[in-house]
Amino acid sequence: MLLSVREIINTPGKKISFQFSMDLSCVEFGGYCPVAEPVVVTGTVRNMAGVLVMQGTAETMLHAFCDRCGKPLVCKKSVPFEHLLAQELENADKGDDEILLIENGEVDAEDAARTAFILGMDTKLLCSEDCKGLCPICGADLNMGPCGCKKETDPRLAVLAKLLQRDEDKD
Ligand SMILES: [Zn+2]
Ligand SMILES: [Zn+2]
Repeated sequence: MLLSVREIINTPGKKISFQFSMDLSCVEFGGYCPVAEPVVVTGTVRNMAGVLVMQGTAETMLHAFCDRCGKPLVCKKSVPFEHLLAQELENADKGDDEILLIENGEVDAEDAARTAFILGMDTKLLCSEDCKGLCPICGADLNMGPCGCKKETDPRLAVLAKLLQRDEDKD
């Protein structure tokens, strides 16, 4: 979505608001496409003492799966972004990500929002912070309670356990 900033470009103190939605349903994260709903982008561009500043938020509900237990989950995802707008890039070859280029009085707000959203995606989503995941042996959902499988102990821990046991025996 191209956003015209012509009306504020020469008027310090003035601002414009924008809102649009993007379809990122084909974008894959972690092997599937969790952005099943439109991403709603809202924001403003302000002329702050002659400098144009864009601030926005890209927001949607993700339809994903817990990275530990595989349960489907729906969670809100909100990614803020901010850019300075400039008519020309002074350090064009540096590829300054902070600065958006104004071309013919317009900036590509959608491209900025899409990039921010994709960079802000979590690689791992959990159904809850303390999800216990699945038992690696029997596959039971450990959130439902212990499954009764014996945990495989790390051989180094087993040695340590034996040492601790010996100390206890001394007392
Ligand atoms: Zn989970
Ligand atoms: Zn088990």
